[in-house]
Amino acid sequence: MSFGSLGLCAQLLKSVAEQGYVRPSPIQLEAIPVVLSQRDVVAVAHTGTGKTAGFTLPMVQLLSGGPCPQTHSVRALVITPTRELAAQVVLSVQNYSQHMNIRSAAVFGGVRIEPQIAQLESGLDVLVATPGRLIDLYNQGAINFEQLEILVLDEADRMLDLGFVDDIRHIQSLLPSKRQTLMFSATFSKEIKLLAKGMLNNPVLIEVTAANSTVDTVKQLIYPVDKARKSELLIHLIKSNHWHQVLVFTRTKVGADNMVTQLQNAGISAASIHANRTQHARTLALEGFRNGELTVLVATDIASRGIEVHQLPCVVNLDLPYVPEDYVHRIGRTGRAGTSGLAVSLFSEDEAKQLAAIERVIGGKFKREFIPGFVPTPKEKVTVDVSDDEEYGNFEPDPAPQGRRKSKGRGKRGGSSSSRSRNKGSRNK
Ligand code: AMP
Repeated sequence: MSFGSLGLCAQLLKSVAEQGYVRPSPIQLEAIPVVLSQRDVVAVAHTGTGKTAGFTLPMVQLLSGGPCPQTHSVRALVITPTRELAAQVVLSVQNYSQHMNIRSAAVFGGVRIEPQIAQLESGLDVLVATPGRLIDLYNQGAINFEQLEILVLDEADRMLDLGFVDDIRHIQSLLPSKRQTLMFSATFSKEIKLLAKGMLNNPVLIEVTAANSTVDTVKQLIYPVDKARKSELLIHLIKSNHWHQVLVFTRTKVGADNMVTQLQNAGISAASIHANRTQHARTLALEGFRNGELTVLVATDIASRGIEVHQLPCVVNLDLPYVPEDYVHRIGRTGRAGTSGLAVSLFSEDEAKQLAAIERVIGGKFKREFIPGFVPTPKEKVTVDVSDDEEYGNFEPDPAPQGRRKSKGRGKRGGSSSSRSRNKGSRNK
């Protein structure tokens, strides 16, 4: 089956060919015709399946036939849980719509709000936004939803994990009830079903992989090791295997920074990406990692959403996540779009519960492999410190407007940044 048979217009087929896509992925095959038919959709698809193009391509096609956005108006709204994902999605929108006259921008916290207000002034076809900043902008009168036709909730499961449910419901109350709604989620939990019930109208359910499944193209390995020797083992693995591009996950921000220091001391170039780093520092780190200047990027779970690295060969879990679904998201950064990937988890005895939970979600047991020289000493006594944990400690993912959502801690409030479509030609009919 080719893209040509899905009902996409010539401009989009041209963009798709320019991206080098030869045939649609399973989610694209199923979602594109349904979205084009203007039905609501709930799609269970994790990152790496091509879901972004699955909703973006038909969405821009539907928008291209309609009226221009009026002042402050937004015709399609894509809500994402994190800044990185918002930036990634708007880039896809701009790539796919480059031969069309579609105005798009992303808005999220952590950067100045004024440029975002200015961008919204002339109206947008597509706005990609994180919930807190979107509500801030609405409260300041910068956005008008009267022209809204399409709402997309991307990584809806993650938004629920991050406590955005009230924000999402509030945003829903501001939108016209006559609209098309698309919801994408990596998992299909009871909570997601409930959210979908309240927001979608007789949706088509699309499920391309079993809920919570991991990508077949990722080889998953568990290396048992003493907790205190994890960093040493990571350095050993990178050096002995000559890994040149490794995304490492830690549960805590301090853990991420410590790991970076140890890697650098061992002569391995590395940077971290987490909630305490500025947006600028996060962007620089990601760019350095993408272009090969950095061998290792160390990330916490929340910051990792939207980290998109073409053909990333290797992901390492320095700690296992508390939320088992995060494991699926983490390893989904490699083995994307049909390429093969390696996901290595360094497992210490204190993480037995997390490993069991992950194995339940995956639906199988991992084989443990021992690295000579790093075989763990039996019954190591360890204490678990969650004081700096991003999920459970002082992290607030993207600031909510003042007085609306209770802060979980000392998360930063911030300004804004966004991007605009490069195209200025006439609107395609
Ligand atoms: P996503 O799941 O949307 O994050 O996309 C994962 C990766 O797959 C991105 O790097 C896309 O550029 C790429 N991709 C999306 N659709 C296709 C396709 N049909 N063929 C090849 N690569 C694709």
